[in-house]
Amino acid sequence: MTNIKVIGAGLAGSEAAIYLADKGYNVELIEMRPKYQTGAHKTGNPAEFVCSNSLGSSDILNASGLLKEEAAKLGSTLMKVAKKYSVPSGNSLSVDRNGFSEEIKKILKSHKNINLITEKYEKIDINTPTIIATGPLSAKELTQDIKIKFGEDNFHFFDAVAPIIEKKSINFEKAFYATRWDKGNADFINCPMTKDEYENFYKILTTSKRAPLKDFEANYFEGCMPIEVMASRGIDTLRYGPLKPVGIFDKRIKTEFKKHQFWAVVQLRQDDKLANLYNLVGFQTNLIWSDQKKLINSIPGLENANIVRYGVMHANTFINSPKILNCYLQTKKYKNIFFAGQLTGVEGYSESISTGLLSAINIDRYLKNIDMIKLSNKTMLGALTEYITFEGHKKFQPINSNWGIVEEINFDKNKTKDKKYKNLIRSERAMEEITKVTEIMRV
Ligand SMILES: Cc1cc2nc3c(=O)[nH]c(=O)nc-3n(C[C@H](O)[C@H](O)[C@H](O)COP(=O)(O)OP(=O)(O)OC[C@H]3O[C@@H](n4cnc5c(N)ncnc54)[C@H](O)[C@@H]3O)c2cc1C
Repeated sequence: MTNIKVIGAGLAGSEAAIYLADKGYNVELIEMRPKYQTGAHKTGNPAEFVCSNSLGSSDILNASGLLKEEAAKLGSTLMKVAKKYSVPSGNSLSVDRNGFSEEIKKILKSHKNINLITEKYEKIDINTPTIIATGPLSAKELTQDIKIKFGEDNFHFFDAVAPIIEKKSINFEKAFYATRWDKGNADFINCPMTKDEYENFYKILTTSKRAPLKDFEANYFEGCMPIEVMASRGIDTLRYGPLKPVGIFDKRIKTEFKKHQFWAVVQLRQDDKLANLYNLVGFQTNLIWSDQKKLINSIPGLENANIVRYGVMHANTFINSPKILNCYLQTKKYKNIFFAGQLTGVEGYSESISTGLLSAINIDRYLKNIDMIKLSNKTMLGALTEYITFEGHKKFQPINSNWGIVEEINFDKNKTKDKKYKNLIRSERAMEEITKVTEIMRV
């Protein structure tokens, strides 16, 4: 059977390699870690989650939830393993990151058709069918070669990591378990603040020192902005963002308030299977570590928090996909070369896994000389690929799954304003499209 190279054993690359190996190809999966590190990954394991352990909502009425359902239906192995290693987190899919990547490692290493090679891939061989899935922290040598081969600049923005702390260091006289609006199980730990406590926290935050950013001009992804940047937009920005207090109630306290009990709330999400570690939700930061510690310790309940991983920030690379790729995630210039994952300009774990799967489906079909799959923009994955390959962008920027990119349905305004109902119809339509694709794939 044909040899295929997959570059990068991250989320997209691992998904693609398993799909292709199952199809019978001899897959060389080339991963540079642990020999060369990226700066954000902490292990040498494949499919490592670099920051949060959450893949986003698991509700099909949510854009990210729909994307996961679509990927699962198309045969995603990583989505299956993520479910197996899920940890409680209300309506979202969060995983025990170590269990998850250990299992992916086991699958890759034990697969008779996969050869996992530790090596830094530097020059693209246009004669070998290849999927490049080296992610936002791709090695410079390779991005340099991409520039040479495709005559396009790579782009950058900044992505930050949120701190993780040990549960046993949390003060539960102040902190408490709850989910927003009591939806699902009370899986999150909440650290509530009064107005005075929030103002003190805000003062510390806005006077803390930021670690200097190297190499690039600061350009942040709106959906993953460091808290210090968000805070600089106004004192209440965080209270309408990651620290929003609405719908979070401490049942130990009697209250007459219907919307919220507190001025602001910091939420923590379970990070490992044993529930020893919790990450601070939406708290990605690039403050210097001593100031991060002061800031976290100013949060009620976290006065003595033991921080096991501090927040850091990294430049995040993506290619000019509208110029370089077609809707099959294949390069327009070299038909053997496909891209996948965050490097294509999709943003997020689920998005990276899903594009890894789509590029694998298409390289397989390309090599068999059968029609490649162009997913409809009624589906979330189709809408994402359409967005990243649309040539009319004034300024191409990364995107995560959202309803705005999906083909709109003309709902009768007089009949419904119900958002949930509309999303249900959109999701059902998307899954019908995906079902059609799975039928085509079976032939
Ligand atoms: C700092 C940071 C924080 C992030 N936080 C989140 C988050 O909280 N939630 C979220 O949904 N998304 C987050 N992302 C975005 C993104 O979803 C993840 O980075 C995701 O892991 C991307 O998947 P991927 O498969 O494209 O890349 P990766 O998972 O990064 O995999 C790429 C792999 O390629 C390897 N590699 C790189 N260059 C070479 C080379 N030349 N040769 C061989 N191997 C190479 C790398 O070592 C890596 O293992 C974050 C990104 C960054 C940079």
